[in-house]
Amino acid sequence: MRILIVEDEPTLRAQLAEGIGAAGYAVDVAENGTDAHYMGDTEPYDAVILDLGLPQMDGITVLRKWRTAGRSMPVLILTARDGWHEKVAGIDAGADDYLTKPFHMEELLARLRALIRRAGGHASSEIVCGPLTLDTRNSRATVAGQALTLTSHEYRVLAYLMHHRDEVVSRSDLVEHIYAQDFDRDSNTVEVFIARLRKKLPPGLIETVRGLGYRLTAQQ
Ligand code: CA
Repeated sequence: MRILIVEDEPTLRAQLAEGIGAAGYAVDVAENGTDAHYMGDTEPYDAVILDLGLPQMDGITVLRKWRTAGRSMPVLILTARDGWHEKVAGIDAGADDYLTKPFHMEELLARLRALIRRAGGHASSEIVCGPLTLDTRNSRATVAGQALTLTSHEYRVLAYLMHHRDEVVSRSDLVEHIYAQDFDRDSNTVEVFIARLRKKLPPGLIETVRGLGYRLTAQQ
């Protein structure tokens, strides 16, 4: 899962990037409205954290442009204290949720999980596929109750496949959703991650769909 963080205040931006990155997400950051608009318009984010008071182009305008262009990724806006009118304007512009500054990182992460979960049609924070369970609250995967030891990239691949359980996911989808923008991307490494995951998972859980990609499914 790949997240865009839009915040012009450097300390908060760094805190957000660290907290969200530590929770297992790939993270891109933008510090002004122009960059944010371009990135959200061209990259397939699983969710966006959007501050509203931004240089160059304000957050409401950025959000309205995305929605007008048909960009439907979940967006959580950050609003100032006592900024009820901002919340109303943001929700009317297409925000899915909001958080008032200052906030606790844990609350932001919980709201982020909920947004991503709802976007994928998952009702619970635990996603289950046969014997495999992904607990998005603590970024843990278990097989029949036994915890799996995963590297951060293995976790990202598995989390993306679990959020898209029973769907075919292409290699390029995986590349776009597990790496941040400035990362040196190599789609061959996706095959390596899949091979490593297969060794850790019960056989047959990750299918190769020839010419299309992979499918995580418990239906044989
Ligand atoms: Ca700001």
